[in-house]
Order: sequence, then structure tokens, then C-alpha cells
Amino acid sequence: MLRGIAAETAIVAFEPSKKQWLTSEQAQFTPSVAIPNLNGRLLFDSPSLAAVANDFGHIVRRTPLAVLQPGSAQDIAKIILYANRIGVTVAMRGQGHSPYGQAQVEAGIVIDSRFLNTIHSLSSTEVVVDAGVTLFALLLATWERGMTLPVLTDYLGLSIGGLSQVGGIGGHTQHFGSFADTILGLEAIAGNGQQIVCSSTQKTELFNSLLGGLGQFGIVTQVTFPLIPAPTNARAYHLSYTCLDRYLVDQERVLKDGRFSFLKGQVVPHPSGSGWTYLLEAASYYTPPETPSDEALLNGLSFDGGLALLEFNYFDWQNRLASAVSELQLKGVWEYPHPWLNLFLPGSQVKSYVSSVLQTLTASKVKEPILLYPFRRSKLTRPFIKTPQEETIYLFSILQTAKPSPEAVNALIAKNRYWFERARDLGGKSYPVNALPFSREDWVSHFDDSWETFARLKASLDPRQLLAPGQGIW
Ligand SMILES: Cc1cc2nc3c(=O)[nH]c(=O)nc-3n(C[C@H](O)[C@H](O)[C@H](O)COP(=O)(O)OP(=O)(O)OC[C@H]3O[C@@H](n4cnc5c(N)ncnc54)[C@H](O)[C@@H]3O)c2cc1C
Repeated sequence: MLRGIAAETAIVAFEPSKKQWLTSEQAQFTPSVAIPNLNGRLLFDSPSLAAVANDFGHIVRRTPLAVLQPGSAQDIAKIILYANRIGVTVAMRGQGHSPYGQAQVEAGIVIDSRFLNTIHSLSSTEVVVDAGVTLFALLLATWERGMTLPVLTDYLGLSIGGLSQVGGIGGHTQHFGSFADTILGLEAIAGNGQQIVCSSTQKTELFNSLLGGLGQFGIVTQVTFPLIPAPTNARAYHLSYTCLDRYLVDQERVLKDGRFSFLKGQVVPHPSGSGWTYLLEAASYYTPPETPSDEALLNGLSFDGGLALLEFNYFDWQNRLASAVSELQLKGVWEYPHPWLNLFLPGSQVKSYVSSVLQTLTASKVKEPILLYPFRRSKLTRPFIKTPQEETIYLFSILQTAKPSPEAVNALIAKNRYWFERARDLGGKSYPVNALPFSREDWVSHFDDSWETFARLKASLDPRQLLAPGQGIW
């Protein structure tokens, strides 16, 4: 009898005119569309909906109608076709580390990619993985076999799928471009339900567009990466500068000659609490008995604020942020709002722009990282990852945490907008993992000469504009 009641109360269909789910009993008497058979689960309960109505930014909240825990890529195809029939939006959520609702949907369906997390094959040259696998899990699996990926981000708790859509910038970008540049092939389900298999040699326009496409054209289900031999050790070099000018000269010198395996950097409040210092963070990878030559690596560099050398094993080096993140989580700071601003600045403008921003900040109050490091434009080849029109580009990121009050958050978002506009006027671009209000006009100007292609592909691959509405493009 209990089984009978459960069957009657189980949700089996959707009523498009009222945008509501129906039980089997209700569905008998109402025009509705039956939910397809799935290998995974479609959840409707409040805790499941609330869990995906928020993200790392803790600024935007949008509650979906359902959450899919896919049991297979076919489930995703079925749900996209279903969403087309019932007219609701869909977003794949990777690790939900977006700052401004980019992976959320209001009254639509969120697909939780964490349930699509198999590493399918791993050879000495390639690895094929599901899009929900995290960079941490992938690196762990490849590292155990002495292999690694060409580009990794600072934090490894991000999903392969999410990174493939935004780009993914890190200390290896100087040599290999963005994370999305390194991908060799992928499988995806377009917004119209079409299954896509593409690669650097097959359906290349689709392939290039799906990478860095901000989730607009399709949901990536599987990705193929190249592997390279992993060194066993990393020697990190922390070079301190008291002067921005010198810091930039040295950053560009080492970018040009490529002497370091890894290159990043940040602006750091001076220990006195007044003014700033600049930290060039580099690393040289090696496998003993080979060792890096400190003399050669530091030759010609004019750091004047000190030098620290640190030894790591390669995996711990790549996973270096894990303990800091755990601490933030334990302290509860992870749950605070994160109105982050990430910009790409043209090299010629970086000194004056960064100086003006820093003048408005009180060094003693800044607790979060301000990233500032260069890479080369020509290394970023995916057409929808937009960068300034100069060969030397800087990533400038103000990774701020706000007090959990709407006034504090809104003030920082207004500042983000102000600084974005100043950067844009100098030829800068948003690296779109921001808490930054962006209008349709902003997107057209962001994509610039690629806008028409972007809009054409959207019209053909996702004609009902169902995918990733949280990006706010349409
Ligand atoms: C602590 C921290 C550290 C970070 N470090 C770096 C860094 O070093 N370098 C860097 O470049 N960025 C960094 N980021 C930013 C990060 O790259 C983006 O926030 C990225 O989107 C996060 O991945 P995710 O898996 O959480 O994606 P989500 O936030 O879940 O999704 C991002 C977007 O991609 C879409 N999406 C997700 N999966 C798929 C898929 N399989 N197919 C199609 N669309 C999909 C979503 O719908 C959404 O629009 C960091 C963020 C945090 C919070």
C-alpha cells in the first residue's frame, strides 16, 4: 500500500503552462510532459534546490525547479531535449566557484556535473575524462603515473568543464596558454540536443567555440587532454620588489626568455601596513639528479626586497592552495561574499592603471590576494577568450571578500564596475569570472569582432537560448 502511495506522489511530469511539476495522480488529469527515463536522478526537494541556488560569490541566489544528478551523458542529452520541450533554462554546475550566479538558473534545471566524474582512459600521452572531474582528481591520477597536464590553475578544486568554459589561467599560461588551449578533443550536447564530438582536427569551428564559450553553446560531457612527463620536484623562487616599475621590467624579462617553468606574481601590502611590495612568484621544475641553477635563473633580475627559495614535491606545489582554502572554510570566510574582479590589461597600460587602483586601496586593510602577472596574447588561441590587442597582457585580479551586508557588497560591485570601465577605456578586457554587472552592450563590445559569430553559433546550437542564462549575455 505504501508503495502505491509513493507512486502516486512521485513527480512524473511537468505542466508547461503553469511551470509546475505534477505527481502521477495529477498528471492523469492535466496536459503535461512526462519526465524521460534517466539513469541518474532528478531532484525537486528544497534542500537540493537550495544547494545549487548559491555559489562561491554568495551574492546572487537563483532557485531552480529541479537538479539533475546525471547517471550518464545520455541523461544530459535527454534533459536538454526535455528542457526544449517544456521551455525551461538549463545550466551545468561544475564546482559552483563562479562569483556572480554564472552557473545558476531561476526556475530552470541545474545539472550537477559532480555526478559525471569518471576518468575513462589514461595513457602515457592522453587522458579522457568526464567534465565533472576536478583538476585535483585528474592531477592525482596522472601524477601517480608520472604524468601531468600542461596548464593547471592555482586552485585545483575546479571542474574540468567549468574551466573549459572560462579559460583557466595559471603559472604555466606563459608557456602553454589557457587551460582551454590545451584541450585536444571533447564531447558535448548542444542546446538543441545535438550530440557533438569534435577536436582540434574534427569540426574545428565547433571545437574552438565550445572552449571558452561560457556554457552558451553546449554542455561539455567529456574532454581529452594531452599529458606530459611530470617532474618530481619544484623549486619556488619568491622575489620581492619595492618598486612596481622594476617588478614589471623583471616580469617581462623572464616572460620573454621563458627561464622559469612557472610564472605568477602579486601585489602585497608592505609589512608596515603602508604602501605596497610586489612579489614575483616563479618555479623551476626538475627531477634529480638534475637541479636548477639558481645563478642562471636569477641572473639579471633586480629584486630589492628579498628572496626566498622553497622546495616542494611537484604535486604539493600544484596543490599549494589546498591548506589555505581549508583554513578559510574552517573559519567560515569561504561563506562570505566574494565580489571578485579579474581583468586582462594591455602591457603598455599596466603601470599607470595598477598604480591608480592601488592609490585608492588602504594597504593595511587588504587581506586578500591581488594578482598581477603577464603572459603572451598569442598563446591564447580560442576565439571567444577575449584579450587586449597587445602581445604582453597582464592578469590583474582583486580577489576580495566582503562583509556579509548588501551595502558592503554593492559598494564593491560598483567599484568593480568603475575599474572595469577604466580598464576597458585603455583596451583592457574582463576575464569573465567576475562579480561585475554586464549589459548586453557590454557583451557585444567584449566579443568585439567575434560577436557576430558568437550570436550565429548561439542561434544554431541553442536557438531557444536555454543554456547558462546566469552569464547574462542574452
Ligand atoms: C578559490 C578559487 C580559485 C580560482 N583560481 C583560478 C585560477 O587560478 N585561474 C583561473 O583562471 N580561474 C580561477 N578561478 C576561477 C574559476 O576558473 C572559475 O570560477 C570557474 O568557472 C570555476 O569552475 P567551476 O567548476 O566551479 O565552474 P562553475 O562555476 O560551476 O561554472 C562556470 C560556468 O561554466 C558553465 N559550465 C560548468 N561546467 C560546464 C560544462 N561541463 N559544460 C558547459 N558549461 C559548463 C557553468 O554553467 C557556468 O556558466 C578560481 C576560483 C576560485 C573560487
